[in-house]
Amino acid sequence: MGFVEGLKCKECGKTFPKEPIHVCEFCFGPLEVMYNMEEIKKNLSREKIKNGPKSMWRYKELLPIDGEPFVGLNTGYTPLIRAKNLEKKLGVKELYIKNDSVNHPTWSFKDRVVACAITKAKEFNYEAVGCASTGNLANSVAAQAAEAGLKSFIFIPDDLEIGKVIGTLIYGPTLVKIKGSYDDVNRLCNEIGIHHPWAFVNINLRPFYGDGSKSYGYEIAEQLGWKTPDNVVVPVAGSSLITKIHRAFKEFEQIGILEDEVKTKVFAAQASGCAPVTTAIKNGWEVHKPVKPNTIAKSIAIGNPADGYYGIKLTKQTGGWGEDVSEQEIIDGMKLLAETEGIFTETAGGVTVSVTKKLIEQGKINPDESTVMCITGNGLKTTDSLVGTFPDVPVIEAKLSEFDKLGYK
Ligand SMILES: *Cc1c(COP(=O)(O)O)cnc(C)c1O
Ligand SMILES: [Zn+2]
Repeated sequence: MGFVEGLKCKECGKTFPKEPIHVCEFCFGPLEVMYNMEEIKKNLSREKIKNGPKSMWRYKELLPIDGEPFVGLNTGYTPLIRAKNLEKKLGVKELYIKNDSVNHPTWSFKDRVVACAITKAKEFNYEAVGCASTGNLANSVAAQAAEAGLKSFIFIPDDLEIGKVIGTLIYGPTLVKIKGSYDDVNRLCNEIGIHHPWAFVNINLRPFYGDGSKSYGYEIAEQLGWKTPDNVVVPVAGSSLITKIHRAFKEFEQIGILEDEVKTKVFAAQASGCAPVTTAIKNGWEVHKPVKPNTIAKSIAIGNPADGYYGIKLTKQTGGWGEDVSEQEIIDGMKLLAETEGIFTETAGGVTVSVTKKLIEQGKINPDESTVMCITGNGLKTTDSLVGTFPDVPVIEAKLSEFDKLGYK
């Protein structure tokens, strides 16, 4: 059952068995999941996908599990929306929103990676899972661990939005706040992982976790009518999602699900307050320099992204680019999407929208081409960032005369 052959080092190519490991013991390169693509090609077709479940598991053959999914049965298959109003506003012909702000169960794309990781944790017989998180991962691990009947240990920076904290605590995990940034949290979790027999979804299960993101890419291609867009704009934190979307497109090409060669240009979006990847792209560096995050886009505030090198390389390879935006532009981006398309995204989505706008203005995105914006999280979780940014709301007595005084026509 399943088409996973093992793990493979992205750098030296050494192979390893399917185990909860993530670093090559020879060269310290990251490991990735190896699939039997020949067999998948024989077993998967457009027809089979179309008749599959309306969830990320319609692409199960290309996901890193051996048996049936244990959680996340309703995760994925989120809407791809033609953004007609925003198209006009930005002066482009064909703009889409891949809307994971309505993903199940915790309203971000992280539900995809966690569904894979928790299923793997069950396959590996773990009794507890953990994660280092910038917020959305915490929500999803807590929720899906609860569903799976596993204990969860969740570590976050101490300054996260209240919505992300409550949205974790509600599921009854063990939550620990760490004084510092995500990078400090991650470093500590790596040490904790050595001493505790827990499945850290984005550390020892990282190869399996990351591949959950591929489903976001498969869905874009399927929902565009078995095509890939000319451009895709992706918010970057650890730089995993951006690489997996493109990987998904290429795999669809490889197994003949797509007719045309994938020519999608991949664009990285970050907040200027934490922009190691886009800074490297703009300066022509091969590797990023770690930074200390300082931005309201907390969910993507990773100063030393694990897959930064691969994200930088990919944008270059595909003819894409990277751009970052100010705190004010993040707010403006959230409001622009809400006011034009009726979609309330979180700060990371504000980054994506404003970066897309900037790339169009710079001519880096051709207005005659098709573009998909990756909206990856829900605005109700980050309302803190918007407090005080609207004009005062009138408060009146329940009298018609009072209302008339406001002068609305
Ligand atoms: C985690 C996250 C990302 C980026 O994920 P990486 O794969 O780590 O780059 C983007 N958007 C949101 C809302 C996230 O929570
Ligand atoms: Zn290696």
